[in-house]
Amino acid sequence: MAKHCPICNASSDDVVFVGEFCSKCAGKKLEEKLPELIKIERCRICGRIQTKEGVMEIDRKSLQIVMQQRLNKFKVNLVSYGDDKAVLDVVEEGWSQPVAGEKEVNIKYTKMTCESCYKKQGGYFEATLQLRGDDERAERFAERFKRYIEERGGFISEVKKVEGGYDVYASNKSDAAAYLKEKDIKAKASYTLSGLNKSGKKVYKNTYAIRL
Ligand SMILES: [Zn+2]
Ligand SMILES: [Zn+2]
Repeated sequence: MAKHCPICNASSDDVVFVGEFCSKCAGKKLEEKLPELIKIERCRICGRIQTKEGVMEIDRKSLQIVMQQRLNKFKVNLVSYGDDKAVLDVVEEGWSQPVAGEKEVNIKYTKMTCESCYKKQGGYFEATLQLRGDDERAERFAERFKRYIEERGGFISEVKKVEGGYDVYASNKSDAAAYLKEKDIKAKASYTLSGLNKSGKKVYKNTYAIRL
């Protein structure tokens, strides 16, 4: 015997059913279950957002990650997005057949300070490059080095003019070392103990003296 949808009265002879409802009404019921508002933490300084894959620029990829994270019981596909709204395709599985709905959600950005901006504000650094020699060459070197560090998510907390050159303070010593190695730059390295980390291991700051 044919079933009739209690909402729209469609017959199971004509349309697909999911449980006691026709698939269209089941989709509408799914849409009603979804939140109207999604909150996302956004850094007050760099404007990037917190996702489970780290702090990212706001774009299709990062918003897709956050939306899927928030609606983790469903399969979510970001259709479009604007400054404070996003349209999502949402699929709920586990029924006789998947139920699909579309939802426009409001986005509210809440303020935070990301780890990298927090460290930057505090003048954090792990490595110092002491560039000595021609000023112009040192400035060009510092620019290229800065780009390299920033492309890898780090930062330069200070470029300081000193007698005979520049001191450049970088947030990440492994990237600093990788740069010198990659560019085959000869540097005299020294290490100063800067303290202990959370697990009690000694932490060193690296200094690289470079003659240009
Ligand atoms: Zn119906
Ligand atoms: Zn930030």
